[in-house]
Amino acid sequence: MSSRPPKVPLVNLSLQNQPLQTQIEQVIREIIQRGDFILGQALTEFETAFAAASGVKYGVGVACGTDAIALGLQAVGIHPGDEIILPANTFIATVIAVIQAKAVPILVDCDPETALIDLTAAETAITSKTKAIIPVHLYGQMVSPTEILDLANRHDLIIFEDAAQAHLAEREGYRAGSFGKAAAFSFYPSKNLGCFGDGGMLITNDAEVAEKMRTLRNYGAPSKYLHTEMGTNSRLDNLQAAVLNVKLPYLEKWNRDRHEAAQYYNTLLEPLTPKGIVPIANHSSTGHIYHLYVIKITEKSPLAKPVPTGGSPTKTIARNQLQEKLAQQGIQTGIHYPVPCHLQPAYQNLGNPGDFPHAETLCQQILSLPMYPGLRNTEIEQVVRAIERSFDS
Ligand SMILES: *Cc1c(COP(=O)(O)O)cnc(C)c1O
Repeated sequence: MSSRPPKVPLVNLSLQNQPLQTQIEQVIREIIQRGDFILGQALTEFETAFAAASGVKYGVGVACGTDAIALGLQAVGIHPGDEIILPANTFIATVIAVIQAKAVPILVDCDPETALIDLTAAETAITSKTKAIIPVHLYGQMVSPTEILDLANRHDLIIFEDAAQAHLAEREGYRAGSFGKAAAFSFYPSKNLGCFGDGGMLITNDAEVAEKMRTLRNYGAPSKYLHTEMGTNSRLDNLQAAVLNVKLPYLEKWNRDRHEAAQYYNTLLEPLTPKGIVPIANHSSTGHIYHLYVIKITEKSPLAKPVPTGGSPTKTIARNQLQEKLAQQGIQTGIHYPVPCHLQPAYQNLGNPGDFPHAETLCQQILSLPMYPGLRNTEIEQVVRAIERSFDS
């Protein structure tokens, strides 16, 4: 049954790629003819355009979002042993990048309503070694710029935004990536702005940070065969930048589409609150760009029946049941993310079970519903009807 393609997929990239295919093939052909594959014209154009769209002066394209964070932290002056605060429920790449920068990740809990970093918990985690905080703009919603600027100013911390899920998101008059010392983006294919492979970018208003980033991504060389930094090879391919140049003008429209789809989901799901279905809260109005549309299936849900297993009754995970029932009805869903960072086998030194209760509970409750530009209202209705039907069987 699961081998059939889903009636409503979690994401559909061909809806945005197919209409642009001729244009994209044209720009790729031009690069093949010019032969500027590395650090070429399309990359410079895209760096300028994406930074400007985000309301920032400089953009530096790198190989992926993970490198944008890892190298970006070095570019803003993070040193080995510095402590950096970040949320326990982020995608693991944030943690990986901090460790690559030889800094020490300090995880904190999240707000159970928004799934964003809990700034009160963050403040408690500050020590004399804390140098930076990474707000992760999870699911396409920004962490409040005014609140985190206030926190960072009081404790003299660098703000480094993980904006990998928040291209052109807005909150309190700020665009994602415009209020921190620097910010990292990913252009992984399924992000709100995605290329045809891996890609990433650091954006910043600080000329020195931008210059250091350019050096770090290019073997630590400000000019050929002069190595002033211990850098690496991490550049955004010119071919990928050319694809992104074609797509960038459509990003705002795609983000609006996602927002409208989310509004429709919210309306249709409202009557299901008594069944324990609660969308992750949006505290940023139209500035939330819904990289993902995530609901919680709370303990109030009738799906969360106690099941006796070997004597002691343990609760089945209602979310897993719902996900399976939806799959049977042709609705593809995802979980972002099923395990918090400190409970991953490789990162158990970052915390113990129970340390971040909201993050741990959320991981068991969250479900990402189909979300992409071009998702039709009839498909959203299909998804919600399938959720309703899951309570009947
Ligand atoms: C995708 C993502 C990254 C990493 O980006 P890559 O391009 O896959 O390396 C980092 N942080 C978050 C929150 C992400 O969603």
